[in-house]
Amino acid sequence: MVISLTFVAARSRAHGPTAALWHAVEVHRAPDDLDGACELTVCGVLARVTTERTWPATGTDVCPTCLTHAR
Ligand SMILES: [Zn+2]
Repeated sequence: MVISLTFVAARSRAHGPTAALWHAVEVHRAPDDLDGACELTVCGVLARVTTERTWPATGTDVCPTCLTHAR
């Protein structure tokens, strides 16, 4: 069984003045298993994984740290 390192998109919650952002979460298993789970993102915050979006995310509400480290 080959486990490839991939990233999935995860949405953090808006926190005070900080808007909700899309982050990358490193996954070592089927992304379907993680759907809806809170996982630690590449940049070190907790965010809820969704399979409705794919990483790399596009748009302006994407975490720049995750974008740099997860490509
Ligand atoms: Zn991030």
